[in-house]
Amino acid sequence: MTDKKAYWGIDIGGTYAKIGCIVDGVFRMVQTLPTGESCKPETLLSSISDIVMEYDAVPAALGLGTAGLVDRSSGGTIRFSPNLPLWNNVQAGSILENTVGIPVVLDNDCNAFAVGAISSGLIPSQGLWLLVTLGTGIGGTIINQGAVQYGTGYSGEFGHMTVKEGGIPCPCGSNGCWERYAGRKALEWYYSTVTGKRLSPLEISLSASNGDLQAKEAFREYGRWVGLGLANLAKCFSPMGFFLAGGLSATTDHFKKAALQEYTSRCRHPWKVTVLEDSPNAGAFGAASMAVLQC
Ligand SMILES: [Zn+2]
Repeated sequence: MTDKKAYWGIDIGGTYAKIGCIVDGVFRMVQTLPTGESCKPETLLSSISDIVMEYDAVPAALGLGTAGLVDRSSGGTIRFSPNLPLWNNVQAGSILENTVGIPVVLDNDCNAFAVGAISSGLIPSQGLWLLVTLGTGIGGTIINQGAVQYGTGYSGEFGHMTVKEGGIPCPCGSNGCWERYAGRKALEWYYSTVTGKRLSPLEISLSASNGDLQAKEAFREYGRWVGLGLANLAKCFSPMGFFLAGGLSATTDHFKKAALQEYTSRCRHPWKVTVLEDSPNAGAFGAASMAVLQC
């Protein structure tokens, strides 16, 4: 083993856990493990420990990001995971600290992504900015002067602000949440209600690019809801601007006009929206950046 230090980054998603590390300032992917609904915490965390211990560099610290409510105050506990039903109230931080013997920091995956984007200079280190990830759900992070802001321990849960009273029920326990109207399923639903066909966002995007009027209308409806949510956030935070990431941000060209129209009809704040390119390993890189900066 070399005497070089490895700062580990783990991104636990609903389909895969991506594992990488920063050594000598360079990030590299090390392994991808399957997860899924039946994924058991003890099995996956034990595999992660083995990979870290067997790697050819001295483990220095470990960052872990995952979707849902991550409680940083209690040594790193995953309180609620929307994609991994066996991972609620799992003390992943202390489990990994005990097995690997290095400092561990846990956070919501959107926050981890934000830390990576700040450390690569994609999000400015001056001023207040909001990161919104548009995917299956909608993640949110408040960034001020280059640091993620936490109130009671969590950062922005933008996807669960109510945008429609008495609206669609949400697994979080509320209803009418923004992500019910501007998340992946919403776009699929807008398209299927007029066509009867169930397509993925990528397929709807391809159809819209090919001039399909119903796909374009689905994106217009989707864009209206994106614009409405961003207008609410602009009025609450008055940010310098928004950064969009997540799978659906790649389709921004299709919904931007409708989102902008809705936004400007509801608020006077300037429309400054930047789409961040979403590399498939950005979550693991962000988690490793947390390990470098916070451990
Ligand atoms: Zn909700």
